[in-house]
This record gives sequence, C-alpha cells and structure tokens, in this order.
Amino acid sequence: MGSGQVTSTVPTGPSGFQGKHVTVAGLGVSGVPAAKVLHARGAVVTVVNDGDDARAREQAAELEALGVTVRLGDGATLPEGTELIVTAPGWKPDKPLFQAAREAGVDIWGDVELAWRLRGPDAAPWLAVTGTNGKTTTVQMLASILKAAGLRTAAVGNIGVSLLDAVLGDERYDVLAVELSSYQLHWAPSLRAHSAAVLNLAPDHLDWHGSMEAYAADKGRIYEGNQVACVYNVADKLTEDLVREADVAEGCRAIGFTLGAPAPSQLGVVDGILVDRAFVANRQKNAQELAEVSDVNPPAPHNIANALAAAALARAFGVPPTAVRDGLRNFSPDAHRIAHVADVDGVAYIDDSKATNTHAAEASLASYEPIVWIAGGLAKGATFDELVARSAKRLRGAVLIGADRALIRDALARHAPEVPVVDLDRTDTGAMLAAVQEARRLAVPGDTVLLAPACASMDMFANYNQRGDAFAQAVRELGA
Ligand code: ADP
Repeated sequence: MGSGQVTSTVPTGPSGFQGKHVTVAGLGVSGVPAAKVLHARGAVVTVVNDGDDARAREQAAELEALGVTVRLGDGATLPEGTELIVTAPGWKPDKPLFQAAREAGVDIWGDVELAWRLRGPDAAPWLAVTGTNGKTTTVQMLASILKAAGLRTAAVGNIGVSLLDAVLGDERYDVLAVELSSYQLHWAPSLRAHSAAVLNLAPDHLDWHGSMEAYAADKGRIYEGNQVACVYNVADKLTEDLVREADVAEGCRAIGFTLGAPAPSQLGVVDGILVDRAFVANRQKNAQELAEVSDVNPPAPHNIANALAAAALARAFGVPPTAVRDGLRNFSPDAHRIAHVADVDGVAYIDDSKATNTHAAEASLASYEPIVWIAGGLAKGATFDELVARSAKRLRGAVLIGADRALIRDALARHAPEVPVVDLDRTDTGAMLAAVQEARRLAVPGDTVLLAPACASMDMFANYNQRGDAFAQAVRELGA
C-alpha cells in the first residue's frame, strides 16, 4: 500500500455550485434528489433522461416547478455549457453523453461522489462495504454492532437509503455504515473512507464494466485514501491484491478476515469463537474473543465471513468486543436470504431467493447437505459448470425452473450425471408450487430443499422478493 494525497479539481463545500452549469443524468431515485440539492445551492441544473414515460413526466413537472430544466427522451446530448455531470450510478460509462463530456473535459460524478463532496466539516466518517455478495447483510450487521456500542449510526447507500439524505438530513450521526455498489464506486473518484472492506470478488455485471479487471478496479476504489483499515478476505486473493494496489493514508493497516485461525492482523475463528488478532495489544501473542459462531444469524460459513468483516470495520472504529457480540446477537437478516421457511416431514425448506448469481448460490449450497436444489431463471450471461462441479456431491436432486434452466441442466449432465433432475417446462404462476412438490418427492427426512436460483427472477417474477414469497407460499401449501 502506498500513501496518497487527495487531489480535487472540482469545487467542494456549499458555495462551490453557485452559478455552475450542472447536468444531472437520469431522473429517479438518485437524480431527483441530486437535482433539488444542486438547484438549492445555486447551480443552473439541466436534467437529461432517456425515458419519457408517465412517471418521468411527473418527476419532470415537479422539478420544472422549481426552475430546473428537464429534457425527456434525450439522454445522449451534452447540454451546452455543462461544467459538471452528476449521473445516476447505473448509467454505463460508454454512453455518448459521457464520451462527449470526456472530450470536453467535464467531470462526471455519481450520487455518492456528490454526497461525499457535500458533507459538512464535522461530518460522520464512513465505514464502507462492497463485494459481489454479502454487502447488505454486512452493513446491517455493522450498523447493529455500532448501535450496540451506543453510536448514532445508520446503514445507508446501495442498501436503498440515499447517501444525500444521510449526509444532508437533520439526523446527526457519529459514523455511517455505507454499502457501495461497483457502479457507485466507479463514479466516486474522491471518496475517502475511514475504513473499508471488499468482501469477495466474482464475475458480475461484466457487461457494464467491460471486463473482470475493470470490475475489480472499480471495487478496489473503495480502499483509496482509507484512514485506518483496509479489510480484505484472506480466502479471496483478489481482494488482498486490491489492498496492495491502493493509495492509503499514512499508517492505514491491511486487516484480513478468515474462517480459519487468524494470523496477526487478522480476524478469524478458533474453536467456534470469532477472535480478533488485529486490534489488540501485542498481536503476535494475544487474541481477543469477540463472539461465538452461534451468535451469528444464520451461522452459515459465508455469513460468518460477513460477520468477521463487519467486526473488523467496527473494531477499526474502536468499538469494544462486547458490542460486537451484542450487535451480532441483535441482528437478523433481511427476507429471502437463507430464510428458514418450515420443516415438512423432516425436510427443511430454505428460501435464498436473493442468491441471484452463481457465487451467492455456491455459498448457499455450501451451507447444507444433502440438498434438493431449486434453481433457474435468467442467467445474465453466467456459466454454471464451476458451481455445479463444486456442489455436486451435496445434491440429492435438482428441480429447474425459468428461462435459462437448460444451461444448468447441461452443467448437471456434465458434472453430476447421477443426480436426478426435474426440468420444469413452465413459467406460469403455479410453476413454483409444482417445483416445490417435485422437490418434496426427491427429498428424504434430514434433507434440505434449498431455493438458491443462481439466476435473476424477472423471467417469471417481478423481483426476487416475489419469487421467495411464491416459494414460501408453496411450502405452506405442502404443510397444510
Ligand atoms: P448483496 O447486498 O451483496 O447482494 P446480500 O447480503 O443481500 O448481498 O446477500 C445476497 C446473497 O448472497 C445471499 O442471499 C446469499 O446467497 C449470498 N451471500 C451473502 N453473503 C455472502 C458471502 N460472503 N459470500 C458469498 N455469498 C454470499
């Protein structure tokens, strides 16, 4: 790790936007609040938006009433005189608007960058989390630990709570637990967290980033300028490489987390206890007990890793060990993340509908044995060979649903030919009930029926929540 200085060419602070021509790219969750804030600070704001539907018109009318210019149906042309673009995080970097901006030497910020720049001088420090999977769970665990330590905090960012609101609202915070997506990090060049963690890195969203290298580089930005700790996953070398490449503040430490026994400067697990060998005096010899594995809910291996990452960030902020334990005990995961729905005839039914990619599904499949696996949906360009090859020995059977199920069926035929597979050629609303009934037929007492689709849900459902609800409803009908 080197040590670097923050350089900034764009004005910060409340007065920096007076009279400045700012283009906001994209209405919606981040665009509307961004436009309002910039307008309130004296900027001359133009919003450009690709779509021109009823919702966009409604939002446009609201902004126009304030004096903001809105161009609907034209997100490609750079408005004359633009000095800065503030973009919705999801807009792809290769859009013509951005190409034009780069040619004109115009800076491009995301919503996170804007929030970071608008923080007041005594603003709460950020403890930041990214990774391919486990972000939401980890920031929620972190917020729970920080609260148990008596700190005023909130879980914010990609989790669905606007950073602009958190930074500019009336609520006073001591510290923020911030979830950041790779898109948000891409557009946040000057963010400097107190401490940050990259939980894991597996191919995802590559169509947006262009390559695995570009995706990893964007994730790695979270470490830039860290003050106290860069937290990485010992089992995932890519995360450690990103720490090594980062420019951080003088004295900032690299802290690993591992499911094994921790080396000095790591947190890990010894005999069912989460232990800290990083934030203790004389770490060559000493370790501090933080919590028991059974304090983590659910105590699946990947979730213990999430708990260790959250604990590392909290400890970097000076939180005492008892608060780590209490915060983990107080935490329960959001719906559809390894949720135990019911036991029917000695078989456990688990809803991990949020396992929307192969990396998440692999963690989920590693948590049970034997498993009847319900999988399938929209593959988003993924391949399933590795996942199936690594999980094959745990499978009692598989039930496949959704548009891209043939990809999983073929991987099962290649790597697990002895595993019975039911290929459900249905996408109607009753398909999930049929899947659960087939899974019940394959399962024997002691087994787990696991919905871990490894795919997105939008071919059959509105979102992963609805898919998980359909599963739970089907399980209830079995038990009725
Ligand atoms: P994110 O916010 O990154 O999508 P979540 O905490 O919502 O992460 O978890 C999403 C899914 O990812 C979970 O349902 C689980 O299947 C899986 N998951 C959670 N933590 C991990 C982890 N550390 N490694 C791999 N998969 C994980």
